[in-house]
Amino acid sequence: MKLSFLGAARQVTGSMYLLELENNYKLLVDCGLNYERDVPREANANFNFDPEAIDAVILTHAHIDHSGNLPTLFAQGFEGHVFCTEPTAALIDILLSDSANIEAKRVNKKRKKKEATRRLFGHKQVMDVLDSVVTMPFHKPFELTDHVSVEFVPAGHILGAASIVFRIKENGKVKTIGFTGDLGKSDAKIVVAPEPMKNLDFLIMEGTYGSRFHIEERSAEETLKTYIQKTCIDQPGRLIIPAFSVGRTQAILFALNRLFRSGEIKPIRVFTDSPLGINSGHIHDKYIAYLNEEAKDFVQEYRDLFRFPFLDIVEDKADEEEMLRYYEPSIIVSSAGMLDGGRIQRHIANNIQNPQCTILIAGYCTPGTLGASLLEGQKQVRVNRQDRTVYAKISRTDVFSAHPDQKGLVDYFKSVKEASQLKRVFLSHGEESSLEDIRQVLQSDFQAIDIPHLDEQFQL
Ligand SMILES: [Zn+2]
Repeated sequence: MKLSFLGAARQVTGSMYLLELENNYKLLVDCGLNYERDVPREANANFNFDPEAIDAVILTHAHIDHSGNLPTLFAQGFEGHVFCTEPTAALIDILLSDSANIEAKRVNKKRKKKEATRRLFGHKQVMDVLDSVVTMPFHKPFELTDHVSVEFVPAGHILGAASIVFRIKENGKVKTIGFTGDLGKSDAKIVVAPEPMKNLDFLIMEGTYGSRFHIEERSAEETLKTYIQKTCIDQPGRLIIPAFSVGRTQAILFALNRLFRSGEIKPIRVFTDSPLGINSGHIHDKYIAYLNEEAKDFVQEYRDLFRFPFLDIVEDKADEEEMLRYYEPSIIVSSAGMLDGGRIQRHIANNIQNPQCTILIAGYCTPGTLGASLLEGQKQVRVNRQDRTVYAKISRTDVFSAHPDQKGLVDYFKSVKEASQLKRVFLSHGEESSLEDIRQVLQSDFQAIDIPHLDEQFQL
């Protein structure tokens, strides 16, 4: 069989892998949107295969860089099923619908400026994706054909995220191929720890933080307590936490809920300003069985993961006005995480020139994004089409990171290797330097590690 790396090759976004069997059966693993800065959005329409010829898609998790190009695949003739876990199906429903709105806005803007563009997909294709979904539980291998079985293994990372194990029979031999998808941290908030795959011949592993070491020794609650004390209690300031709607927002609200209920710190009013974050919270509430023991125990005791007395959920215009008129110390949790779009923009615009404000960036920001510019220490930035001087304090924490650091990746790899007869390993989903760094460390233990280029093919 042949494995092709059609995305997230030496970069983070656009995850897509093609497995082609000798009998011509074709499987796509993930179909993510490539949103690297130097790639025009329209480029996502250029599949280097025939979408009609794909037999099935297996989806690791709901994040747009793994699922966001599925509607384009349907727009171009794909007619098969998309297999994923139940929470992933619920999350792609809200994420892809949101993505279709963003796509419509982008196209309208271009047309107003009379610039040539092409619409990738609309709501019709999002409905096609949702209609085609088949959900499967973890740990129950299912037969796609007489020759191909698939098993979902918990990957941590976000609600419903799976690693995928394929057992493929060809010429009388069975080969086992494992895709990690995005992995989570072993001590993550809310979500379960990643479970290493077993009995693999080939491993395709993510390396997002292959160069990084998460330096947090403190818990999420202790980290937040320090920032709240410094920003909102020692002075009348505002703590702004940009957060992705799915996963990160819930982890932060859960940590705030635990912190305030513990009575260790005076409660401060919290505004959560992210429509997608609210819907994503409802989905977490619905699929509590998929969350970790800490989260389940908390629900037993307090009934609610994300709601607490000082929380204001911004749902309509009146809530919005109240939030914007509130000048007392407060905490704002809003999307998007890298600060490049979404509601967070207005909070940054309103507060970036306030020296009593702290912007706490929770995790990785792609180079070129507003979040990355602030973390680099730039003193002049452009927000909402205006240049602004940065007076707010800019901080970063990895405590809410959804990915393991170098040590976590090495530990994960060792567990897989011990339980397998690995022949070859491929690293993807990371900047080139991260993947090179993690390869160097892993090679003290195992030699056959490739870092594929975009569109590179391998015979397995
Ligand atoms: Zn992800």
